[in-house]
Amino acid sequence: MPMNLPTRSDATMTQPVDDPTAERLAAALRCATVSADDPHRLDTTAFDRLDAHLRQSFPLVHAELELRRFGPSRLYRWPGTEPTGVAAILLAHQDVVPVDDPQRWTHPPFAGVVDDEYIWGRGAIDDKSRVLAALEAVESALADGLRPRRTIYLAFGHDEEVFGGDGAVPMAEHLRQAGVYADLLLDEGGVITADVIEGVRQPVATIMLGEKGYATVRLSVTDTGGHSSMPGTQTAIGRIARAVHRIQTHPMPLRLTPVIADMLHRLRTVMHGPRGHLLGLARIAPSLITRVMATQPQTAALVRTTTAPTVIRGGVRANVLPAQAEALVNFRILPGDSVAAVLRHCRKVVRDPQVRFDVVGTATEPSTVTAPGPAFDLVADLARAVVPGIAVTTGLVPGATDSRHYADLALTRCNFAPVVLDERDLASIHGTDERLSRVNYARLITFNRRLIEYFATTGTPQTSGADS
Ligand SMILES: [Zn+2]
Repeated sequence: MPMNLPTRSDATMTQPVDDPTAERLAAALRCATVSADDPHRLDTTAFDRLDAHLRQSFPLVHAELELRRFGPSRLYRWPGTEPTGVAAILLAHQDVVPVDDPQRWTHPPFAGVVDDEYIWGRGAIDDKSRVLAALEAVESALADGLRPRRTIYLAFGHDEEVFGGDGAVPMAEHLRQAGVYADLLLDEGGVITADVIEGVRQPVATIMLGEKGYATVRLSVTDTGGHSSMPGTQTAIGRIARAVHRIQTHPMPLRLTPVIADMLHRLRTVMHGPRGHLLGLARIAPSLITRVMATQPQTAALVRTTTAPTVIRGGVRANVLPAQAEALVNFRILPGDSVAAVLRHCRKVVRDPQVRFDVVGTATEPSTVTAPGPAFDLVADLARAVVPGIAVTTGLVPGATDSRHYADLALTRCNFAPVVLDERDLASIHGTDERLSRVNYARLITFNRRLIEYFATTGTPQTSGADS
């Protein structure tokens, strides 16, 4: 439902970034740092060019912070002036997903075009703007003589889009070995959406506190094959089709997890009309709420482990019985469920001993979900300062981010960036015509800068007493 933003939170409250700042991001977008499933096929020269660009653009960062490389991944340590503990681990990733339809882009995806309003290119939102914004903020803080009281780490992976095995995993292990435990772990995930949530007039910041798990289950059937003139009652393909149908029509149960209950509770105060009334029932009638949420794909993903049959194959010729058939079903696992529970569920609903079930590829359990504590309040306050007039809520990352590898290394984990995105912007992430407005980029930099200023003046996040 389209609606206008109230003028009080007008987007012009933050000044857009100037040309040199926009150009530094654009130059990073010109490095086609596409992650590769096979690490041997990674284009390391693109990462080398990005490395050179970052060193040249942020000389103070590279003179004063300790940088440790894990392949193309970068782990910076900014020592605090006090010897006690770690304030924050700020995550972002340098890699991007490939582009399969470059001719549909307004500007070539790796051209790094800057115009009056936007910085265009693959990675403009996801996630190079967050890498560069953090470095811009640290560089300017160093120039102004600011130092954090407690140590800050910046960790920029190079394979987030392919599960982080060579980047985030060893960087997190390094921090674990060093005994790091931070107040705040900050990564990509939630943003500020405008005109996306029906019934809410103001932009909504979704500061996500954890993420769903991930598993792909392969269903396979092996048969003797033979001539298709005497097929018996069911071929391997028929058996697989039945199994997929059973799984599709018997999803895992609906459940209102504490973080989603909290999210709804916070939205209730800003949601108008019947939906607002409905949210008032979240605590007394959770099953009613989950049933309503299950009717839309975006909200259904918040209240259950989702089931998506994505691949099916089998058979070679029209007149030959298939000896093999298989299907892949992708699950995004709600906290409280597990990879093993997904597998058990598949066996139970298919109830066919001839169908084999295997978890294939990378599987991850759902993350632990931290309660919104003082570090959450800090992030929320900074978001409100950067984009006045927003509502703030919590949430759960529906996909997977590098932060799951660091989850045990911080008291509070927040997946959030203070950029205001509409439906079109959201669709451009991993899609066509990815771009970030100069105003949004300025918000990202200002947010990082204020976070650093906070850590330069205050040791530990305090409860703000804000209406969070
Ligand atoms: Zn990303």
